[in-house]
Amino acid sequence: MDIINKVETQVKEAIEKYRLLKKSDKVVVALSGGKDSTSIIYILKKLGYDVHGLMIDLYLGSWSDAHKDNMKKFCGEHEIPLMFIDMKKELGQGICFIKAVLKEQKNLTGCTVCGIIKRWLLNRWAKKLKADKLVTGHNLDDEAQNVLMNFLKGNVLLGIRSSPATGWQVTGDGWQGDGSLAFEAKSSGFVQRVKPFFYVAENDIREYAKKIGFDILYDKCPCSFETYRSETRDWLDKISDDEKLKIVVGFQKKIPGLRKGDMKELKVCKSCGEPASSELCNACKIFESLDFKPGKSDEGCDVSCSV
Ligand code: AMP
Ligand code: ZN
Repeated sequence: MDIINKVETQVKEAIEKYRLLKKSDKVVVALSGGKDSTSIIYILKKLGYDVHGLMIDLYLGSWSDAHKDNMKKFCGEHEIPLMFIDMKKELGQGICFIKAVLKEQKNLTGCTVCGIIKRWLLNRWAKKLKADKLVTGHNLDDEAQNVLMNFLKGNVLLGIRSSPATGWQVTGDGWQGDGSLAFEAKSSGFVQRVKPFFYVAENDIREYAKKIGFDILYDKCPCSFETYRSETRDWLDKISDDEKLKIVVGFQKKIPGLRKGDMKELKVCKSCGEPASSELCNACKIFESLDFKPGKSDEGCDVSCSV
């Protein structure tokens, strides 16, 4: 099977097996401008889903500008609506400043801060856009890194919510999910997050994107060097895709047992109203260091979000 067939078949099978998306869904795809999110929105559009691009401008200088221009061109060519979230308008600062403050005040480094803020912004805006699903380009390598990083931190329980779609449950004989679980995810304040590339190797996605010939940048994020994640990634690069699959599948099988008694109920953040595991959500803990107070998430979308 050639690479185009291989990757597209894997996505189709994942959607069917885990019932990730419906044709009637409003599917918002979080676009970074990289190969993973560009490939997944392209495949979902090709499969006939109602896709919309949502991109956060992180203000990472010419790197962000190039990714933004590429996505405007790509979405224009494929007739996909594209929206931008302006980080400075939303939070008053770009990501570099935020990371610098958090390093100084809480010694938080690496991709953690960026990941928390991206998740918070994407969930809020997906709700405003009335999305049924929020798709990200996370792939098998990302998931293998998560399993390993949590293990090396001595806390495998950090991964018990990991799955191809939030709100779904794994049982002894595989994944189970239905409309009520999707509803549960929604009523807990999350737009259901979906990762159709959960079991697709990064090497295959790169080859796919190059074969199709997307006019995008293939460089890694300029902030992600010398982080815990990049060290784990370098180490995992030495093993085969099959071995990475074994790590992820092996962990997924253990989740039901780990979840018993360790699934904390989700609360509502008392500051911003988003889902949280304690009184304040992780993003608001970061915002405290920035002296930034977000409003409660409101309904509807104002004009500033669409381009
Ligand atoms: P990363 O954490 O950079 O590996 O990105 C993982 C996924 O998060 C990507 O495949 C996108 O779906 C999403 N993502 C990353 N950066 C952005 C961004 N600036 N705007 C919107 N979505 C993003
Ligand atoms: Zn909060």
